[in-house]
Parts: sequence; structure tokens; C-alpha cells
Amino acid sequence: MKVNNNLEIASYPEQIFVFRKNIFLLRALFYLVLTFFVALPIFEQRSPSVVIVICLALFLLNTGSRYIFTYSKDLEIIIHIQQLINLLGIILLVLYSWGSNSTFVVLFIIEGFFCGLMYNLSCMIGFLAIVICFLLYLCLDNNCANYTTVLSIVLSMFSTISSFLIIREQDKRKIELISYYLKLEKLNSRLIGIGRLRKNFMDIAYHDMRSPLSTVIGFIQNILSGYGGPVTPKQEEWLNRCVDKLNSLSKQINELYFLANIESTDFNEIKKRCDISHEIELAIAEVYDKFVKKNQKFTKNIPNSIPWMVVVPILFRQCIVNLLENANKYTPMEGTIQLEVEYDENWLTVKVSDTGIGIPDEFKPKVFDEFFRVKNTIVDNQKVSGTGLGLTIVKSIVDGHGGTITIQDNKPNGTIFIVKFPVVREYREA
Ligand code: ATP
Ligand code: MG
Repeated sequence: MKVNNNLEIASYPEQIFVFRKNIFLLRALFYLVLTFFVALPIFEQRSPSVVIVICLALFLLNTGSRYIFTYSKDLEIIIHIQQLINLLGIILLVLYSWGSNSTFVVLFIIEGFFCGLMYNLSCMIGFLAIVICFLLYLCLDNNCANYTTVLSIVLSMFSTISSFLIIREQDKRKIELISYYLKLEKLNSRLIGIGRLRKNFMDIAYHDMRSPLSTVIGFIQNILSGYGGPVTPKQEEWLNRCVDKLNSLSKQINELYFLANIESTDFNEIKKRCDISHEIELAIAEVYDKFVKKNQKFTKNIPNSIPWMVVVPILFRQCIVNLLENANKYTPMEGTIQLEVEYDENWLTVKVSDTGIGIPDEFKPKVFDEFFRVKNTIVDNQKVSGTGLGLTIVKSIVDGHGGTITIQDNKPNGTIFIVKFPVVREYREA
């Protein structure tokens, strides 16, 4: 499994802080402008200095609290204090601008609008309530003006308190999100550690298992060659069987090691431009002897002009080798195996067809699973051995290149594997 460190989530709360900070500043500016206009109609009735002091105090407290609490990033406190300041400011302005009641309603509307913009639905409900109060105030006679004022303040407080609660809930969730992220990060680094451990283990196991195996095979071959004295026909037969078994064990170890490495490899780091026709020819050469041994007819149809493409050459080759090996293994003697290559602007298509035993429909989706093998596979009256990793490797390689692999039935019998690799002509940094 590939483990990526995804840090995107970490910047999420930071963005919210910045957004809210900007809205606070905008709101404070609005208060400055508004309080100035509120002051205008009462210049004649009240002392202008009192109104100006209230306006300035309101602005400074609003903006000041923003700067003081930004450093602690304690949003909840900023919001509580600002809302308190706003309420106090509004009450004071209402008291000092008794002669122009309608202005405070405008102030409340703006307050409601900002609440709705910043926070949530409950603020919008508060805002609507204030609008209704304003309409009431317009409809009723002057004696009822005080009641609508009080009602507006109560509703505004209600909307403010409910928005506090909702914001607190939102922040709690945000903190939860951050703690989940931290846990995820911890798990991620543990996974990376386990991945590294697994890789080290695989490296050691691969080396420690492969070396004695090769030595044992070498010694048996010496015995078979007669260097240790004459070998009886029975001994020769048994020793040959030993070599076969050891070779297949060695193949299994290779495949396991190969698969473990593919899974922890970033293909983009090892991709390079290469001559695709040449790579395909190398893959064929690796398997060709096996076709000859089984007297199988092998045909190929590879266009001369395949463009150079960006792939991981060793893996691309391995993919074709595995498909050709399967075609060879699961096709009886004298059968036919065909390799066709086509390409267009977007895709390079490699088709490997055989006239073998075929794959029943119910097993087609499973053959790519690790260690999956169709049970009791008999070809030429012999049980076919294998590990069940060949096609898993093929699939990992194809996926790693952004390609696709499909299986079709060959008529009248056999299988066709169709692999498509995306045509990438120039190497691009991932
Ligand atoms: P190895 O790991 O040595 O390749 P394997 O050939 O058994 O072992 P895969 O290559 O993964 O494993 O194939 C999985 C199974 O799919 C095989 O056991 C076989 O039953 C089936 N299969 C694969 N290719 C063919 C084919 N060309 N024709 C018929 N059956 C196939
Ligand atoms: Mg195989």
C-alpha cells in the first residue's frame, strides 16, 4: 500500500480563521460609518461630543478586540466579546438617539445581515424578527415605539445567543476534525514505518532465501553433470525433479519480491522514454525457448513505427513476459500463440492470444487477485503449477502506468489478454 502524507486538511481551519477575521474587520468599519449616520439626526437634540465618543468607543472596541484575540486564535472569545460590544453599543445609541428611533432598526438590520453572512440560519431568523419589529414600529402609533425597541433588542439578543451556541458547536467540530487529522497523521507515519519494515524484511528474506537456493541448485547440477562420480538413471530422475521444484520455489520468491517492490514504488520516479518495439522484442526473447520446447507456433504482429514512449521499461517488459508465459503454460503442445501490437494517438494496445484451455467466465474477475489460481488446471494431461502472482503483477504494472487490462475468449478456444497503455511521449515531472 502506498502511503501519502496529505497535508491539505491541516490548512482548512487556518482558512476559516482568515475568512472570519476579514469579516470582523469589515463589520467594524460598517459600524463606524453607521454610527456616524446615527449621530447626524440627533446633533441638535444631544451633545455631539457624547455621540462621537460612543461611536469611537464602539469602533475601537470592535476592532481592538479583533487584534487582541487574533493572536490567541481564540475565536469563541472574539465572537462573544464583539457581540457584547455590539449589543451595548446598540443600546447606548438607542438611548442617546431617542429622537430618531428608526435608525437603530437599520443598525439591527445590518447586524442581522452580518450575522447571517458570517454564521448561520439562526442569525437570519433574528434578522427577520428585527425586520418584523420595524414594520410593527411603522404601523403602530408613537406610544408603542418603546415596546418595539425592547422587542428588537430581545430578539437580537436571542439571535446572538443562539449563534454563539452554534458557533461553539462548529468550533468543537473543527477541533474534533483537527484531532482526527492528527490521529490520521500518526497512523500514517506508523504505516510508513511498517511499510519500511516490510521492505527491509523482504530485502533480507529475498537475499537469505535466494542465495542458498542458487547454491543448492548449482551443487545438484554439478552432481547431474557427473563431477561427483557416476549418477544412476533413478538418481538423475530424482535430482531433476529436485531442480524443477527448487526452480519453481526460486520463481515464487522472485515474484513475491517483485510484487512487494512494485507496491512501494512510485512509477513516476523511474519512468523513462524508451523504444517500445525493442522492449517488446526483449520480452519475446525471454520466453521464446518455452514456445520451442512445447512446439507451439508463435506469431507476432508489431508495427515498425511504434513511437518511443514513457514507461518503466523493466516493468513494461515483465508485463508482456508474464502474459506470454501464461499463454505458453496454459496452451497445449502444438498450440498457437499470437502477439499483436496496435497504437493510435492515445493508446498502445498489446494483445496476447492463445489457443489454450481458456478461463471460465466466473474466474475472469478473480485471476488478478493475489495467489488466485483456477483449481485443477490440466494441460497435456499434466497439472500446471504456479504461484498465482503473475497476473497480479501484470495488473499492478498496468495500473501504475494508468492503463487497462481485459480478458476475452478466443474462438474457438483459448484466451485473449488485451492490455492498453496510455501513450505518453514526453517525460513530465509528476
Ligand atoms: P505464476 O505466478 O507462476 O504466474 P499462475 O500462472 O498460476 O502462477 P497467474 O499468472 O496470476 O498465476 O494466473 C492466475 C490464473 O489465471 C492461473 O492459475 C490460470 O488458472 C489462469 N490463467 C492465466 N492466464 C491464462 C491463460 N492464458 N489461459 C488460461 N488460464 C489462464
Ligand atoms: Mg502466470
